[in-house]
Amino acid sequence: MSIRGFHSAVRPALLLLILSAASLPAAGPAIVLNVDATDVPRKVIRVHMEMPVQPGKLTLYYPKWIPGEHGPDGPIANLTGLVMKAGGKTIAWRRDLLDVYTFHVDVPEGANVLKVSFDYLEPAGPGGGPCTARGSATGKLAVIVWNQEVLYPAGWRADELLYKPTLQLPEGWQYGTPLAVEHASGNRIEFKPVSLERLVDSPVLSCEYFQAVDVTPPGEPIHHEIDLAGDSRAAVRMSPELRQHYTNLVAESGKLFGTRHYRDYHFLLTLSDHVAHFGLEHHESNDSRVPENGLTTGRVRMASLLPHEFVHSWNGKFRRPADLTTPDYEQPMKTDLLWVYEGLTDYLGPVLTVTQWVVDS
Ligand SMILES: [Zn+2]
Repeated sequence: MSIRGFHSAVRPALLLLILSAASLPAAGPAIVLNVDATDVPRKVIRVHMEMPVQPGKLTLYYPKWIPGEHGPDGPIANLTGLVMKAGGKTIAWRRDLLDVYTFHVDVPEGANVLKVSFDYLEPAGPGGGPCTARGSATGKLAVIVWNQEVLYPAGWRADELLYKPTLQLPEGWQYGTPLAVEHASGNRIEFKPVSLERLVDSPVLSCEYFQAVDVTPPGEPIHHEIDLAGDSRAAVRMSPELRQHYTNLVAESGKLFGTRHYRDYHFLLTLSDHVAHFGLEHHESNDSRVPENGLTTGRVRMASLLPHEFVHSWNGKFRRPADLTTPDYEQPMKTDLLWVYEGLTDYLGPVLTVTQWVVDS
């Protein structure tokens, strides 16, 4: 994560890090997830899910502890209109008395599928509070943050639950994401089945003026691109010089880390004065949001943002302090090694920031 004013002291590194469980195969129930974002310019996202169930008591969670945000800040207050159906009937659900992120339901005899629907309401503007709970959409663009659009059953790790996601975007909007696409037709995208862990770690950036810029260095086998969304066509226009700087960044990161630990990499960059401004790391992407002039007159202010979030793909995602690595989003994260997670990144990020300019001079 990177927000203005956040700095961590970097101490001599005692790196008690473990490998993320991102690559383990899913073994839990396969859940159908349909996200209708056609009304996102009006701040409404409609969610429909179908999950295999057995009769009896079932507990569902809305993601609470959000990776990279290091706190229990899932935007539960923005979830509304929750309806559950089984066996052709609407069934009652009950909110847990101690945890607002937990829902209890009794699946009736004879039912083997639970249908869940709800709306996610986007904040009206940039808003306050934690990162992704703040504004993520305007009339021209949206960041689809999957942890806001799912419930998941208790009793499974996030890497065991398999989701089959589809996404409908406003007509004519294009998109970028590290998710693998199974099929796309018109404004409807069907993604390949993916674990809940990888889904939550793979946002979708979409925009009427969407642009994808290839920043893969010559000879580099792994594809890297910057996906741009802005409130105007001018906002997403990247100069050849700037493109070269980011290509340098990718080249130098390869020399720094010695190998690649992802399938390909997407810098998801939002340029808007009407969304929250921050950066949030993911394994194969980062969700970074800056003012509309971020590629022009505001360039210097955001110069170190993408390098910081890019470093997090290695320090924070590929390698992570053990007690920040939780099996699902209900278990609390312990942050005693956050100084490694953020501090080392705050050291290596500026080092790579400088290489953007000097490597080709
Ligand atoms: Zn950070």
